[in-house]
Amino acid sequence: MGRIFLLLLLPILLFGASVKSFKWNNGESFLTFLERSKLPSSLYYNLDKDDQKLTEDIPYNANCQMLVDDKNLIQQILIPVNDELQLQIYYTPKKRYELQVIPIVSQENTEILYIPIQSLPYNDIVKATGSKNLASEFVKMFKGKVDFRRGFKVGEPIVLVYTQKYRLGKPFSMPEVHGAMVEINGKRVTVYRHTDGRFYDEKGAQYEKFLFKFPINNPRITSGFTKSRYHPILHRYRAHLGVDFGARPGTPILATGDGRVCFAGSSRGYGNTIKIRHSNGLTSLYAHQKSFRSGIHNGSSVKQGEVIGYVGSSGLSSGPHLHFGMYEGSTAINPMSVMKKKTEGFSGKERKVFMAIRDKMDRIFKNVLQTKPVKKPYFDYKRTYYVDINTFKPKPF
Ligand SMILES: [Zn+2]
Repeated sequence: MGRIFLLLLLPILLFGASVKSFKWNNGESFLTFLERSKLPSSLYYNLDKDDQKLTEDIPYNANCQMLVDDKNLIQQILIPVNDELQLQIYYTPKKRYELQVIPIVSQENTEILYIPIQSLPYNDIVKATGSKNLASEFVKMFKGKVDFRRGFKVGEPIVLVYTQKYRLGKPFSMPEVHGAMVEINGKRVTVYRHTDGRFYDEKGAQYEKFLFKFPINNPRITSGFTKSRYHPILHRYRAHLGVDFGARPGTPILATGDGRVCFAGSSRGYGNTIKIRHSNGLTSLYAHQKSFRSGIHNGSSVKQGEVIGYVGSSGLSSGPHLHFGMYEGSTAINPMSVMKKKTEGFSGKERKVFMAIRDKMDRIFKNVLQTKPVKKPYFDYKRTYYVDINTFKPKPF
């Protein structure tokens, strides 16, 4: 950690140095980026297979930073892979470049937002917090349940309990909403996030029904999804932005849902890869294929369960398996969180866990609404505030 800290301090210590911000180009490979920046390609080739694959998952539009000294020499580059890990390229005192995968240092706050509806919840949340991410999460949670374009009275309350990451004092990455509440004509509607990452109503019924099916028959998961994990033996941070299914070469790979093939080709890391764009905006990815089914190409429209290709070990793969990814935009999400559930509702221990989450949220909603009634037919900024989740004291806005 000591070295990371020192390197992050460099901008202050270097005289005449400047930080340039840039966005990762859509479709640019890490190798072309190195070439374009006149950095040695060995930075890529010296990485192990897993880290090489990681570079193929840099989201386009990722906010990157480059530190350049007064002689225009690149001292450091930070490229986020997701909201937890970043690639750091740095110039060493030995006058050569090195690359490492390091965590993104951020601070987390759990906050409660409590505002009266004025125009549309989306607009009101953006106006109050400046966060479009929070506003769209909110709308997504109630999708299909509440029509926010009509039916509510001005002044009715919205309560959101969420965790927001901050980096250098600014909101960073998607907030994680734990629970939300709205009143529509005096009727309360609530949503709760369970430990599986999905949203449920007070009875434990799922709000958003995902109909995705496993991309392989008799699935056997050999490696799960992780945004960032410290490897105690390698002493390094690793990420695995998909789920691996072990299977014999030639095993048919099935489309997880209806959609349109938006990529059918090859990359160095993922080998023969198909990407399918689905109507709900998510994109699924099937990597390391032996071959594609004939007739499957870019633009093909596919049905759920249709064979699209066959398991292999093309690309940087240690053996035959299917690497299955799911993306929201260009950001990898856990595919398991959007797969069709075998059973509806909760039972046994899981039910208890959900009830505890629900009751905790309900207590927060109740407390907040009691602290300060907001049913006023006008928008009052003074009534828009954050409450510290532990002390219930309003925090400066
Ligand atoms: Zn994998």
